[in-house]
Amino acid sequence: MFDRASVVTPGGVNSPVRAFRAVGGTPRFMVSGTGPYLTDADGREYVDLVCSWGPMILGHSHPEVIAAVQEAVSRGTSFGTPGEGEVALAEEIVARIEPVEQVRLVSSGTEATMSAIRLARGFTGRAKVVKFAGCYHGHVDALLAAAGSGLATFGLPDTPGVTGATAGDTVVLPYNDLDAVRAAFAAHPGEIACVITEASPGNMGVVPPTDGFNAGLKELCAANGALYISDEVMTGFRTSKAGWYGVDGVRPDLMTFGKVMGGGFPAAAFGGRGDVMAHLAPAGPVYQAGTLSGNPVATAAGLAQLRLLDDAAYAKIDAVSAELRSLVGDALTKEGVAHTVSAASNMFSVFFTDEPVRDYDDAKKQDVFRFTAFFHAMLEQGVYLPPSAFESWFVSTAHDERAVERIAAALPAAARAAAEATA
Ligand code: PLP
Repeated sequence: MFDRASVVTPGGVNSPVRAFRAVGGTPRFMVSGTGPYLTDADGREYVDLVCSWGPMILGHSHPEVIAAVQEAVSRGTSFGTPGEGEVALAEEIVARIEPVEQVRLVSSGTEATMSAIRLARGFTGRAKVVKFAGCYHGHVDALLAAAGSGLATFGLPDTPGVTGATAGDTVVLPYNDLDAVRAAFAAHPGEIACVITEASPGNMGVVPPTDGFNAGLKELCAANGALYISDEVMTGFRTSKAGWYGVDGVRPDLMTFGKVMGGGFPAAAFGGRGDVMAHLAPAGPVYQAGTLSGNPVATAAGLAQLRLLDDAAYAKIDAVSAELRSLVGDALTKEGVAHTVSAASNMFSVFFTDEPVRDYDDAKKQDVFRFTAFFHAMLEQGVYLPPSAFESWFVSTAHDERAVERIAAALPAAARAAAEATA
């Protein structure tokens, strides 16, 4: 299948990290998923610790989500008009996340961050955007700039195809460094439209904000007339009922969502302060649109999933995450492998270093070759981890005792493989 795919699709995949380039080998083609398990085209079953990179927080094929999808599909798949499903999903988001007064639905996290930045620029009349190295906000041209560290570094395109003009208004700063943000505001007075940050980063591995970092960003933005955008595409509706906002309580001007809120379908959103959202067309002058935005099937899936995510569900996910973190840590310690299990609520990842990881530079110092050995040993034993040392692991309410036991049984050999790996 991978050979077939490679003929008709660049690299054989529709999103690069699926290709196993970071770990080597051939990506598994999955044909079905039930609860915490995925089954590949060769009929092998895996305990899934990727959960479609976050969305499948209730596990695969949850009966109530599937029923909601089937009911929606039976009424038609897209109307290109307003519909009640999208209103109900927007109401659910607004009810859960207090700083969100209004929300606009889109189809991907990339669209959400791209639109939020356009709105911030339109609202403030300013051009520059501050982002942090190691934070991923989708493949928005201006946000793919991640040039070096240093104070107020002007973004350079990180990929061919992004022009200097597009990236030139992006200021890339080291994560968890408020002094760098202060210096950027001082260097560009009246020019910075917004600071965008992952609410708690999961795209350089899991690197939570240090105490006061998000609050400091909010304060600096407010003092300098810029908007504070919290990207909760990954953390939203996952790290708590109200996402990372429910954890740290720092009130963003704008927020972005995706993944969990789509229930496995393409649904995402951005929202926030009513006076800012009022600038969006057709209420205001900042244009933003989408043929499939608020799609009735996607919104039905998302709404069904969110309605099942009550306090008990989060307690269960948190408990499974804690159990796995301790099992992984114990297995690596037993084999003498230097590691740090890093967690932000129920999101976690393992850095193969015992040095503290506070930013992207720290994350890159880990022994990636040990992760590679660990990953393949787990895969061989039927545990599907993210195929990169720089990704969060995800669990779901469906990860029950049997699934945890299967992971526990695989860990000793994987830890040994990590210990024996050579660069
Ligand atoms: N923002 C964050 C924090 C993400 O983790 C991602 C995707 O992983 C995105 C934005 C982009 O979302 P999408 O892949 O739906 O475009």
